[in-house]
Amino acid sequence: MFEKILIANRGEIALRIQRACREMGIRTVAVHSEADADAKYVKLADESVCIGPAASALSYLNVPAIISAAELTDSEAIHPGYGFLSENADFAERVESSGFVFIGPRPETIRLMGDKVSAKTAMRASHVPCVPGSEGALPEDPEEIHRIAQEIGYPIIIKAAGGGGGRGMRVVHSDGALLNAVAMTQAEAQTAFGNPMVYMERYLQRPRHIEIQVLADEHGHAVHLGERDCSMQRRHQKILEEAPAPGLDRILRDRIGERCAQACRDIGYRGAGTFEFLYEDGEFFFIEMNTRVQVEHPVTELITGIDIVQEQIRIAAGEPLSFGQEDIQFRGHAIECRINAEHPYSFVPSPGRITAYHAPGGPGIRVDSHVYQNYVVPPHYDSMIGKLLAHGATRDQAIARMRTALMEMVVEGIHTNIPLHQDLMRDQNVLTGGTSIHYLEHKLTPPSGN
Ligand code: ADP
Repeated sequence: MFEKILIANRGEIALRIQRACREMGIRTVAVHSEADADAKYVKLADESVCIGPAASALSYLNVPAIISAAELTDSEAIHPGYGFLSENADFAERVESSGFVFIGPRPETIRLMGDKVSAKTAMRASHVPCVPGSEGALPEDPEEIHRIAQEIGYPIIIKAAGGGGGRGMRVVHSDGALLNAVAMTQAEAQTAFGNPMVYMERYLQRPRHIEIQVLADEHGHAVHLGERDCSMQRRHQKILEEAPAPGLDRILRDRIGERCAQACRDIGYRGAGTFEFLYEDGEFFFIEMNTRVQVEHPVTELITGIDIVQEQIRIAAGEPLSFGQEDIQFRGHAIECRINAEHPYSFVPSPGRITAYHAPGGPGIRVDSHVYQNYVVPPHYDSMIGKLLAHGATRDQAIARMRTALMEMVVEGIHTNIPLHQDLMRDQNVLTGGTSIHYLEHKLTPPSGN
């Protein structure tokens, strides 16, 4: 096992990884920007190195500075967390060529799954069901483009092969708007992702977002840890997740889970990963794979009892998985509310000093957060300041516990989305479960005309 790991991230996930390491007896190195220098989790790490000014491009994305910090501190491995460099194949390659272990998949796997066109091709080969669409990138011939769209059937969505973070997508409802939409998405993709390649898919009208967590080791073993329902989204970003997915048939879940595990074996996947699907009318449609730990991983930890971050570390150290699919048991129901420093209904970020803070507790409650009273939420990064989780024997119990926890939680001095979560935990459609990815948008849009 490693003696020392460098954590190339910030905020709650940096603390989460640090906790996993400490429990395993591994020393930690926190790297941080000037804006995060005083954060408590930085002080809690065994060592810390400042890697640059506040702007992410100069610090958390500064590859040479991170590699130097690993050299300086004699770290053996680098955990990238999520966001920042976590899905950057060039970074993973650089880490390995500098003599460190990258805690994640091989660089070539990150590259394969990072391009949505090559990812879909690989998934089709492994019999993972995909959204019906173009075979690969769109051709240049306008007539061909029209033919493909008609074959798929409108509405369709044009998506950038290199897209991410909900950007580089455009919905088209009719032939007349098609070529213009393709050209605009290509131009945007070139500017935003340096890759003009786009592809086409059927636009699903009211799908749910359901994803499968997997773990795979270097010895050919792969398992799935069940699903998460992440349909509650604003601007294509998740704000509430739960496991299991309400009303999802277990046999169907096991079947799609096994397909994902098999796909991992087929592509030689290593580490933790997530297969994201849209789910509509009892069918799963693969949209993309995330080759890293996800924000919402704790809901799966709560219902399986498996520490996903520790498993990532063991896999990176070359250990075989210590359990098989038959050993994984799903117990109860878990919900996660992402607590963001933002206005609850307009989503406008609200950085600043937290003047009062109280974290809830009690049976089945978990809080993953790096903040505390007097912590200043910097304006430079993502607005998430923590995650509140509730686990119960049933979904109803998890919701009841979440309501109590949201009531107990105090964050003053900045706006947070706690009121929105309180609202959702009393919403009749949320209580029933199974809402689509558009539900929150519809709920928050005032009805027009009356
Ligand atoms: P990103 O990498 O930017 O997150 P995804 O491919 O995961 O892109 O898609 C993000 C979101 O866009 C999905 O969660 C869903 O809300 C919407 N979306 C993507 N593809 C489709 C589709 N074929 N039909 C309907 N909605 C889609």
